[in-house]
Formats: sequence, structure tokens, C-alpha cells
Amino acid sequence: MQRKILVTSALPYANGSIHLGHLVEYIQTDIWVRFQKMRGHECHYVCADDTHGTAIMLRAEKEGIAPETLIARVLEEHTRDFAGFHVDFDNYHTTHSPETRALSEDIYLRLRERGLIEVRSVEQFFDPVKAMFLPDRFIKGECPNCHARDQYGDNCEACGTTYSPTDLINPYSAVSGAAPVRKASDHYFFKLSHPDCRRFLEQWTQQGDQLQEEARNKIREWFDQGLNDWDISRDAPYFGFEIPGAPGKYFYVWLDAPIGYLGSFRNLATRCDIDFERWVRPGDDAVEMVHFIGKDILYFHALFWPAMLEFAGYRTPRHVFAHGFLTVDGAKMSKSRGTFITAGSYLKQGLNPEWLRYYYAAKLGPTMEDIDLNLDDFVARVNSDLVGKYVNIASRCANFIVKRFEGCLARIDWDLVDATTVSREAGLLMTLTGSEEALRTAYEGREFSRAVREMMRLTDLVNQYIDEFKPWELARQAGQDERLHMVCSAGLQAFRVLSVYLKPILPAVVARVEAFLGLAQPLRWDDHGKPLPAGHRINPYEHLMTRVERKQIDALVDANKESLPAAPSPQRHAQHQERQVNQQASPAPQATPAAEGSQAAYITIDDFGKVDLRVARIVDAQHVEGADKLLRLQLDLGGEMRQVFAGIKSAYDPEKLKGRLTVMVANLQPRKMRFGESQGMVLAASGEGPGIFLLDPDDGAQPGMRVK
Ligand SMILES: [Zn+2]
Repeated sequence: MQRKILVTSALPYANGSIHLGHLVEYIQTDIWVRFQKMRGHECHYVCADDTHGTAIMLRAEKEGIAPETLIARVLEEHTRDFAGFHVDFDNYHTTHSPETRALSEDIYLRLRERGLIEVRSVEQFFDPVKAMFLPDRFIKGECPNCHARDQYGDNCEACGTTYSPTDLINPYSAVSGAAPVRKASDHYFFKLSHPDCRRFLEQWTQQGDQLQEEARNKIREWFDQGLNDWDISRDAPYFGFEIPGAPGKYFYVWLDAPIGYLGSFRNLATRCDIDFERWVRPGDDAVEMVHFIGKDILYFHALFWPAMLEFAGYRTPRHVFAHGFLTVDGAKMSKSRGTFITAGSYLKQGLNPEWLRYYYAAKLGPTMEDIDLNLDDFVARVNSDLVGKYVNIASRCANFIVKRFEGCLARIDWDLVDATTVSREAGLLMTLTGSEEALRTAYEGREFSRAVREMMRLTDLVNQYIDEFKPWELARQAGQDERLHMVCSAGLQAFRVLSVYLKPILPAVVARVEAFLGLAQPLRWDDHGKPLPAGHRINPYEHLMTRVERKQIDALVDANKESLPAAPSPQRHAQHQERQVNQQASPAPQATPAAEGSQAAYITIDDFGKVDLRVARIVDAQHVEGADKLLRLQLDLGGEMRQVFAGIKSAYDPEKLKGRLTVMVANLQPRKMRFGESQGMVLAASGEGPGIFLLDPDDGAQPGMRVK
């Protein structure tokens, strides 16, 4: 039966570049979609830029351009990056579209008719200088718990306490620096706490296979905590859609973001004559709506979104598939280490996007576990699996066929050799086609790592077959032409089956394979069991894929290194960028020019906040051979180890430094020195006279603590 599947990936926020963390999701979704299409299902893959909210509005203002100009520019960049990684959307749209506006209004009005919208007065922080209400992320102040200064309005980075911005001591606006005032305003709420919503969600989230088991468990915790009504409005000024019948009130960006899936699909449906209503209304059980998301936005997609759809009379999702985050070399992506790698830089450095597609596939499973991009393993695996095993089969067989047999394939002998055995060639090909069901199940279940393992097992079998018969030796022996023809033909038939299986992951390579094999039609999944006929003519082999060199990866990491993080709070910034999408959150904007002008001789607290000072324990200290002034220090930052070369040899005996605490700059750009890399700087005082005096925190300080 042909399935009808509407597939989405989460909408990237139009306030930043696509990076390798984002690509985990788009590549995962794209592989799944390509597999479904190869199987012959009607599958539409849609996405869009998420364009609304305060962060976009303020960023455009800062750049002195209209928000529409900003989002148009970002849309172009995102579209180019996705295409570069062969992420093949059927439609990539924008939430700032007439379709999304109309659908948002329709869904809102239906929810209101259903009695699920309520207006309540809410008191919030208001910036009297900018005349705007401040989202939590744009309010800073002193932590009510540990009294760390300069903390964001939602939680403290120093002690980890979460609170509401009204709890902050001496709050100030990150937009203007002014002290915010408390001001009441009417807000519109979606009544998620309504018994009908709760009843529906308990059934929808806990029964059936809409969600992964880990997600179901997470949601049960949320049920236990109680479902709160959801504030879906924001006051002007705001970049978004005005709420019908409520002048000066706008839909919160998170309301219209998921509706953007349907907006993008409606845009596609209009152009391609698809029956939109049939796809988005309940009724036709052949239709499935499937969302791929990051685990951080599960709450929106597993609670708000299905409830909104259900009670507005739309089709609810068939599946919401959540995945984990990306780490690089076992750690959170980092701008100072250069592992915060943008999609654009990867392409610009000339790296092959299918290397990454393959590597991610080899790591991806159906769970919400994080996946690690280990850069050494990346190099090893691409070279070994793709170049050494897969592509190698074609390059070993094709030239003999072209040069000795006019490009024509031999007949494979499918007859029984005796009562129970077939020819070696037939046996090999039957083994390959015999794995079809396992591979189909693995792709369908998003167990891509399992699929890759199986494909590489098969690839090994084909190479063993070729090694056994050694076509390069057969070619030198008299009277072995028939055997040579058969071995190389079987090798290419096998290569073709492997190409069917790998095609969802490696679409560009397999397109070249299709041309080289002289296929009249692109390979479809069912072609795995249909060998090419005897006499089929192939084209001369052309190089399919080059090896990746470690130095290319080093160059990529170097290109992504930043000396100082752009945001006042580097960790925070990275964390939010790493989240897949749709975050209203963004780094707080810089101080206004007026404030800078009046205090030219000073730096702002935000400037100071750029320096990440940490308490560090000197675990080891050694003399450095050939260096007059330097000591090599191994520093423990509360679990993370750093090597630092410090010019303190004249003042300190290394043995006496071991075990003591000091203070270091933790986000200084690493520097390559003759003796190794220096990954930070320790702080010491010195004056006109002799003497260097290392800083020492007071008793009780622990490695990793922030100094401010
Ligand atoms: Zn705190």
C-alpha cells in the first residue's frame, strides 16, 4: 500500500547560521525521506525559517535594517547550506508568510470557539526607555540565591538555580541598560490545563507509538508536575502576526512556528495541486504527519502542538521523533576550540558533504541519546568504509569490463551447481538481496547505525569475493577471460545492490554510480532484487570519492576558531545555539551606542563578562626544555584539564606549585607554541621591581568556579 507521509524537520531560527549540530536532524530526516520516496511512497518533506520574535526584531534594529530584510538574507543562506548537504526539501518556506498567518488565525479562532483561550492580566518587566516588555532573556541582574551578578532572567549560571525574572535583585534591561519597571498587560492563554486537553494528551502521549518510550516517560513527569496554561501573546512592539480582534497583541513566536509546517505544506500544495484539506484534516488513515525534532523542544511538539491541532479540528501527528544533541570529540561544541563548525565553513573548505552524511548515519539510532562527532574516527571511518571498501569495488572491476569486454556484463549463472548449491556469484548476490528486509526495517525504524553496520558487512563479503578470484591476476593469465568477465560482472552487480541500499545516505555519489552503470532510471528500493541483464553496457569508471585527510579537518577547526566569543556569556551562547531551533532565546544584544559613548574610558559589565575567569588547580608543573622563562602547567578546571605555558619560571619552583590553586583565563584563544599548545593564561601580578606573584583564591574556592 502506498503511504502518504508529510515529514518535517524543526524550523531553524532566522537569527543565525546552520551548524553541524543542526545538521544531525536535517540529515537524519532527509535520509528517512529519501528512503520512503525510494520505496515509492508519496512523501512530502517541508520546512521553513522561523522568523518571528523579539530577538529578530532587535537584531534587525541593531543592523539598521527591516526585519523582512534580515529574514530574507538568512533564508538565502539557510537554503544554500541545506542544498550543499543534499537536504532535499520539497518546500522550504518562511513562517512570515500569508499561509502561516491564515492558518495561525484559523487555529486560534477555532480554539477560542472551543473555549480554550482565556485573557488574563499579567504583570511583567517593562523597559521604560525602549517602551517594550522584556522577555526573560533580555533581563539581567543579581542571582537571588548566590548573589552572582549579571545573570539572565531565567536561571543563574553560577549556581544553576532557576527562578523567574521578578526574583532578580537589581534587575536591568539588557536592551537599554535601564532599570525595568513592573507593568500589567492583558495576555492570551491557551488553556492546556483544561480537563479536555489533559484527557486528550494523556491518551495521545501515553498510548500508541506516536512518541518514543523515553519521551513518554519524560511527559509523565510533566503530567505529575501539572500542565500550565500557555501564554501565547506578546505586546507590541513585536515582529510577528497580530492576533485577530486584539490590536497591539501578537502571537508569540512559538505559536506560529509549528503552524509554519502546515504553512509551508499549504504553499507546496497550492503549487503542486495536492489536496491540502485531505492531508491536514482527520479522516484519511493513509495519511501520516511525522515530525523530526531535537529533544529540547519536546514539550512544544508533544503537548502544545497536538492539543492545538486536536481542538482546532486538524490532524494530529502520527509520530514525533526526537533525537539528541551533537558533541564534538566528546565535548559540547565550542567556539574557542573551533568545534562550533558552521555548515557554510564546512562547504567552503571543500569538504565532501556526503562524508558527514555517512558519519552521522553510522552514529544515529532511534533514541534521544546524544551523538558524538569524533574527528579522528570521522577520518578513519570515511576512508575505510566509503573509499576503502565501497567505492573500491567499482574501481577494481569496472576497468576490466570496459577495456576487455566492451563495457558489457557477463551472464550470471543462477543455476544450481548440484542439488543444494548455487554458483559462487549467485550465492554472493543472493546474500546481498537477502539482507533487504533487515535494511528496510532498520531504515524505517531510524536505526541507521544498524543499517550501516549491515551494509559494511555486505561490502566486506563482496571485497572478499574479489580478493579470492583476483581479477588483476586473471587478466594476466591466458584462457581466463571468461572467468575474469564473470568475476568483474558479479562485482559490479553486487556494487549496484549496495548502491541501492546506500542511496538514502549518499544521494550524490549514487547519482554518479547510476550514470556510470548506464542505468536508464534512478535506482529505486525494489531494484535491489533486479540484476542488470547480461550484455548490459556500462560507461567508463570515473572517480567516485576521494579520501579525507586529517589536515583538512584541522583547517576546518582553525577556520571556526574565535578568539573571543561574540556574546557576553560564552557558555550560554553556545548552549543556545546548540539547541536545534526555534528558540526565542538569543545572545543579549550589545550595549547601545549612547551608553558606550558616554563612558569611553570604561568597559561595560558585559565587556568584562567576556573574560571567563576560573579557579584552577595546578596539578603538575614542569620545566620546559629550551625555554628560559616558561613553566608548563597542567591545570584542572573542575574536571577539564588544560595545558598552559606560563612565564613564571624565575619566581617559582615547579615542585612548590603542585596542588595549589590559582586563577586562569579559560576562554583565551589557544596558542601554538614551539613546545605545544597553550590553552589559556594564569593570572599573576608584577610591578616595576622584580617579582611575579601568582594569584591565589581564598580558602574554600574549588577548581572550575567562576571569578567575577
Ligand atoms: Zn546563583
